Amino acid sequence: MMRRQDLPTPCYILDEQKLRSNLELLHQTETETGAHILLAQKAFSCFAVYPLIAEYISGTTASGLYEARLGKEEFRRENHVFSPAYEPAEFEELCSICDHISFNSFRQLEKYRPVWEKAGVSVGIRVNPECSTQGDHVIYDPCAPGSRLGVTKANFRPDLLNGVEGLHFHTLCEQNADDLITTFSAFEEKFGEYLPQMKWLNLGGGHHITRADYDLNALKELILRIRKQYGTEVYLEPGEAIALNAGWLDTTVMDIVENGISTLILDASAACHMPDVLEMPYRPPLEGSGKPGEKPYEYRLSARTCLAGDIIGDYSFDREIQIGDRLHFEDMAIYSMVKNNTFNGMPLPAIAIQHPDGNCEILKEFGYADFKNRLS
Ligand SMILES: *Cc1c(COP(=O)(O)O)cnc(C)c1O
Repeated sequence: MMRRQDLPTPCYILDEQKLRSNLELLHQTETETGAHILLAQKAFSCFAVYPLIAEYISGTTASGLYEARLGKEEFRRENHVFSPAYEPAEFEELCSICDHISFNSFRQLEKYRPVWEKAGVSVGIRVNPECSTQGDHVIYDPCAPGSRLGVTKANFRPDLLNGVEGLHFHTLCEQNADDLITTFSAFEEKFGEYLPQMKWLNLGGGHHITRADYDLNALKELILRIRKQYGTEVYLEPGEAIALNAGWLDTTVMDIVENGISTLILDASAACHMPDVLEMPYRPPLEGSGKPGEKPYEYRLSARTCLAGDIIGDYSFDREIQIGDRLHFEDMAIYSMVKNNTFNGMPLPAIAIQHPDGNCEILKEFGYADFKNRLS
């Protein structure tokens, strides 16, 4: 039996029990509504658990050839892809490994029409309902002015819909069902007239279905209404919701630097191992910690890179932190492993899983070769 504290650090640790409880909820949504739920691999591509995830949901979606191949090889159920543009060689291959392909423009749709018609894949077009519901996170808003993502009503070409079986929109990020309902109304007003001729409608991702306050009944009602009124299949492609709060990043305190404040030097890095901390930006939750001022011992958590701004955040603790202590960042399964890098020659964290009985298993470890192989 391998315990959590025996794992090397830094290490991403999947929480199998939490992953399964998220998936139970998604599976229940599928069975009660008839919707198909797909894993958006952009958020979480830990293929060691694809067979586990495939027990609960219908398939995968990809943002390009590599993710599509991974879904085909490791998940082996429905396989969808959306990309703003496809390359000719890539597109041929996608037709052989995907069952659903969504286009971002009518120009791309027409460019590849002979190929997809011959291959017999089900194609869709992504639309932009021009309905922003996200507040100030402009980098995550595909409905922001000037957005390249999705065809607007002004550019929509009903004359080119021959053979098109689906419509797709993706506009949400970490949102509840109320924003989906608002967005669907905007979509319906602009594009609803084309729905009866479609086989499927894909409502994209950004649905925080597995968050405690998510209004699952409102989502279910909407799906049932769409299926009944328009007779289309409904797809959802959440990324975050699949592995929300289903993993940690464990790290060890390597040194403590005093300079007016106490800074913990960790073997984990914001820039390398949790880039969203700097990109979004946000302060990741840390087990047993408080905000500055909440608990008696305060520290700035930082990394051993040379980037001055590689700061994870300021935290407080009930006890004094010692060199050699292990700290556990929470909610580190999503948008972490898929975004990490070896900047500054930093080692990549190992990937492990904690089974429901507490036993831990290392899935993969990385080394110098992983740093060298992507450079020349
Ligand atoms: C990012 C993305 C998703 C998944 O989004 P989450 O916020 O992780 O749920 C789904 N579909 C598309 C087209 C995306 O770009």
